[in-house]
Amino acid sequence: MSISLDIDHRATNSATAPDCATLRGARRSLVGLTQQGLLDALAGTAIPEKQRRMRMSQLWNWLYVRGACEFSDMTSISKQLRNDLASQFDISRLEMVTEQISSDGTRKWLLRLPADELGRRHEIETVYIPEEDRGTLCISSQVGCTLTCTFCHTGTQTLVRNLTAGEIAGQILIARDRLGEWPHMIEAAGNVPANGRFITNVVLMGMGEPLFNFDNVRDAVDVISNGDGLSVSKRRITLSTSGVVPEIVRAGNEIGAMLAISLHGTTDQIRNQLVPLNRKYPIDQLLDACRNYPGLSNARRITFEYVMIKGVNDTAEDARRLVQLLKGIPAKVNLIPFNPWPGTDFECSDWEQIEVFARIVLKAGYASPVRTPRGRDILAACGQLKSASQRLKKSERGALQPAAG
Ligand code: SAH
Ligand code: SF4
Repeated sequence: MSISLDIDHRATNSATAPDCATLRGARRSLVGLTQQGLLDALAGTAIPEKQRRMRMSQLWNWLYVRGACEFSDMTSISKQLRNDLASQFDISRLEMVTEQISSDGTRKWLLRLPADELGRRHEIETVYIPEEDRGTLCISSQVGCTLTCTFCHTGTQTLVRNLTAGEIAGQILIARDRLGEWPHMIEAAGNVPANGRFITNVVLMGMGEPLFNFDNVRDAVDVISNGDGLSVSKRRITLSTSGVVPEIVRAGNEIGAMLAISLHGTTDQIRNQLVPLNRKYPIDQLLDACRNYPGLSNARRITFEYVMIKGVNDTAEDARRLVQLLKGIPAKVNLIPFNPWPGTDFECSDWEQIEVFARIVLKAGYASPVRTPRGRDILAACGQLKSASQRLKKSERGALQPAAG
């Protein structure tokens, strides 16, 4: 399958960092704290207890409704208090290193994180995919990934660390900056998006395994879905996991987002090769956890992602086994044509084979859309993300704390 290299050069790699990006220094970031977390942070200030809830609401509104990235923007708060807050806290954005725009309108941002305890600044990628009826923001939950799925570019990145809740939620703030989605920007540009907003959906399908970073993902989803702020409903937030079985039911109870499972194989033998985590949590355990996912119904189905790899998992027999496995689970199947990346030996299935597969799944009663590859020309499609952090020397990597898992 050929890769389009038709990049829109007008905006490609426009390395313009947003005005808001600064180094945080020692000040604690308020971005990504839940409302309770923000209240707790304000307890360490001179704000009288009686006023804290009101101040928290004001801050929340400035951060998540108006998109403020400096305390000095918060004109409804006294200058004295703004200065006090600025001396203790930080609300600046992650630093945008590059922005790439694909010929199909997909955008990919390379974002640089604040320095870790060793002074190193890692990078992550975030992707925005505009479609006619929606706009999906694909966000990362880790730098790289500790898992090593053999068909995934991110899995080849050896340097891994969990993102904080602020770094996860911060991706949507930058995306809104760049897309001009804050109300004052929409008003100034007169550029009203068709359904009121550019980002209608958020998927945790970027770099990393979200269930290995449970608490931070939970808090970030809480912030993103809060109706007083960014207001992306949990029904429009999808968490994709490669199958961390012990955390799946807990994710339903405590995070409450829609669930997607990266299945990709219909026998343990094949899935062991593609998703090595399967050796720890084989298919039957994974599907049991899915059956027990809280709130499951025909209106709230689990999405099973299935990457179509030529000669590996794409036969009609695989399709028939797949529908047998899914029996009794409110499910839809998302067929993903394999996206190539430099160095992989896998190839995408032939289109006719994908159609044969999709027809069998559809005939069994499961919606089986084939995900159109987006942003392949800028390596922004599923599984193509891999940040430059991998280029750190081996000796440097050793000094870093590995993420859970
Ligand atoms: N780690 C999580 C979420 C990130 S990956 C997970 O694995 O679910 C998001 C999706 O992209 C997963 O379904 C993953 O299997 C898929 N993917 C990875 N590499 C791919 C590739 N090269 N082509 C197509 N899809 C890929
Ligand atoms: Fe990690 Fe998901 Fe890629 Fe597997 S597919 S290596 S779990 S990001």
